[in-house]
Amino acid sequence: MDRRQFIKSAALSGAGIGMLTEPSGAYSIDKIERNIILKRKILVWSHIYLDFLGSDDSVRKEFSMIRDSGIDLLLMFIHSHPEENQSWYNSSLYGFEKQDKLSRLLQIAKEVDLEIHPLIGSITDTGLSDETRVKRSYASGKPGGHSKDGRFCASWEGNRLGGIKISLDVLEHHKVNGIHLDYIRYIDTGIGLKWPCQCEACKQNYLRLFGKKTLTEEDFSSPGVLYKYLQFRNSNITDAVLQHARLATQYQVQLSMAARADYFSSSLVEGQDWVHWAKKGLFDFICPMNYTLDRAWHKKTLKEQLDLIAGQVPIYSGLGRKWSGGENSMEDVIGQAEDALTLGASGVSIFHYNGFKPNDFNVLKHFRRTIE
Ligand SMILES: [Zn+2]
Repeated sequence: MDRRQFIKSAALSGAGIGMLTEPSGAYSIDKIERNIILKRKILVWSHIYLDFLGSDDSVRKEFSMIRDSGIDLLLMFIHSHPEENQSWYNSSLYGFEKQDKLSRLLQIAKEVDLEIHPLIGSITDTGLSDETRVKRSYASGKPGGHSKDGRFCASWEGNRLGGIKISLDVLEHHKVNGIHLDYIRYIDTGIGLKWPCQCEACKQNYLRLFGKKTLTEEDFSSPGVLYKYLQFRNSNITDAVLQHARLATQYQVQLSMAARADYFSSSLVEGQDWVHWAKKGLFDFICPMNYTLDRAWHKKTLKEQLDLIAGQVPIYSGLGRKWSGGENSMEDVIGQAEDALTLGASGVSIFHYNGFKPNDFNVLKHFRRTIE
């Protein structure tokens, strides 16, 4: 069996899927050698259901303008998440209501040398009954419930495989140069240490690790409990990342991810050890979501990230043009972008295209000239 066949069999059957049943641990993965080095690029996150809805000609003009402004790559949401019922690519997965918007955009983008990497909401699944959907979701145990209840819990093997199924489905139906992983983590943001999940999969793992089915915030005052809990969550997500990385290698595409900005207080709690993954060569580039109105905070946070990564993988600092937490002018975004390049980032990734104003493209174009 040659290497390519091995990767395929490992990713799609035997070793790959089996490993997800019993997490193998974050420290047993082989380093994947990747040769692609991207430098000084401008990336933009885009939502396919919001952007580029006009005629072929209007999209062609818009893509030409984008390229002219110096944007190299669109990281594009192509299925609904955390809801799991819609795909805007050519999907054959059961449970998706399909409306293929991606094929046309990929074709037109190719004409102007613009890259599009589809974005995968990584902890998800499709085609589930209401009962199964609820069963595989967070159960915070908070009296009266919590807003995160009802989102898929990554302790379920099926929820991790769901994202891998979508990656494979995209790669089977579209010729793309890369896949971008988002939500590759536990999605109980902010409550992982406050209201540890009480779904059945989590409870079974608590029983295995701690000899009891219920964990509370008080249990985490013990360093050993905290260590085992974070290790368990990181092992689960690392195994999912490994499957995506194998698919990327099999299909010869780049693999990238959107990373939580606060590595020690957010990423690791949510099972997202992206520094470890970077050092293992599992990603071609990483975009930490450093959205902020505060230029000094961006600079400090990005420096910490770059110090941790130590040049192992290109970092594109994620900058917020318009997001749930606020709105920067494009001039402010460029200020942060200048800091990013000075600190040694390979470029920036801007969130998000729908928040751009017409003059933003001129501002970007001017900036682009200064970095070449
Ligand atoms: Zn759970």
